Amino acid sequence: MTTHPEAAEAFAQDAERTAWHDQALWFVRAKRDQVTRAIPEWEALRTLASGIKAHTLSRLDEYLEQFERNALANGVVVHWAADADEHNRIVLGILRDRGATRLVKSKSMLTEECHLNPYLEAHGITVVDSDLGERIVQLGREAPSHIVMPAIHKRKAEVGALFAEHFGTSPDEDDPGRLADAARGPLRSALFGADAALTGVNFGVAETGGIVVCTNEGNADLGVHLAPIHIACMGIEKLVPRVADLGVFLRLLARSATGQPITAYSSHVVTPRAPGQLHFVIVDNGRSEHLGRPEFREALACIRCGACLNTCPVYRRSGGHSYGSTIPGPIGAILSPGVDLAKHASLPFASTLCGSCGDVCPVKIDIPQQLYRWRQMVGRAGLLPAKKRLTMTLLGGVFGSRAWYEWCGRMARVALRVVPGWLARRTAWGRERELPVAPKESFREWYQRSGRG
Ligand code: SF4
Repeated sequence: MTTHPEAAEAFAQDAERTAWHDQALWFVRAKRDQVTRAIPEWEALRTLASGIKAHTLSRLDEYLEQFERNALANGVVVHWAADADEHNRIVLGILRDRGATRLVKSKSMLTEECHLNPYLEAHGITVVDSDLGERIVQLGREAPSHIVMPAIHKRKAEVGALFAEHFGTSPDEDDPGRLADAARGPLRSALFGADAALTGVNFGVAETGGIVVCTNEGNADLGVHLAPIHIACMGIEKLVPRVADLGVFLRLLARSATGQPITAYSSHVVTPRAPGQLHFVIVDNGRSEHLGRPEFREALACIRCGACLNTCPVYRRSGGHSYGSTIPGPIGAILSPGVDLAKHASLPFASTLCGSCGDVCPVKIDIPQQLYRWRQMVGRAGLLPAKKRLTMTLLGGVFGSRAWYEWCGRMARVALRVVPGWLARRTAWGRERELPVAPKESFREWYQRSGRG
């Protein structure tokens, strides 16, 4: 099993890609900062959103039942899926019942989590992802590396090569506008020929039994308006109680995600479009278990804006695939251990704990605190790598004993004077650092000598 540090090291071998990935995401982070500063009530909105989510999660059972009641009254067919397998079986069942074999799908991290595409393809369904970034990773047979910009790890030239193979464009074509044009034709045919359209859900509204889908390309809207069947797949945590709450969340979402004032298309789907069908598949897949852990529950408030990924220095320099989970970055590092602690034991350590993720989160999830708690869980479960366990034990001994601490301080000051700089630079830690000049005495010695102690 590849750990995050191993995968991150492989990603960082390509220094040029790492630098460009870092800068591209920092650009989005900077745009986010600009638009949020233009809103004087930004912090009040974050507090409100955090409160709404905490309230909703504390009564999730009631709101889910209210949502189902209203959706049924609107003529929607509601399905409940306990896990990924059941979700996939339900979607396939809906398609088979209506003889549908061609599905267009807008971006949905939930269906990525359930590995829906390979499942449907294995059962004879043709799936075309209609979001351009998703289409790129689908053609490359890769997983998305970012929850908002799925193909952010790919260079223009790589996309050009992919499109040359699939759409017959020139292998040298790397102009984003012309590449997008090349993808448009085949996508349009897929949209017009689809038997069914599947979308994710940004928000489910308990009060109306409707859902909200946000896209910038209009691909979800085109899909559901052309196909006779609309299947919307939603995690149980996506609910908000009232339509009025959307006024808070829609303002936060686009600004946090891409630095836009509003997502280009925010569609509220409530009833089936006659004579078509509308299905909601409501999925648990481990979320109830997460809800049952009070100290980790707040992670379910996530609205998948991606801001914590864009700001994270570790994510920016290690790429999304290095996390080995559907949701990468800081939010993935606190959700994935709840699904499989042993498999994702390295993720809570994929952070400098600088706190930037918590600062930008529009729903105020205290991600650094959650990372810290998961680290403790990993330690208690005996899942720390041997080297880290040994280091922690040694450091615990040093910090737990004044005599040891002072002796080690003396040794470190001597080492700083006698160990040549080139030796330190041979280690991963020392490669990027200038060693400090060793002080003659410790702070405590100085404090006592200067008569302050
Ligand atoms: S944890 Fe917060 S910042 Fe990160 S994706 Fe979720 S809502 Fe956005």
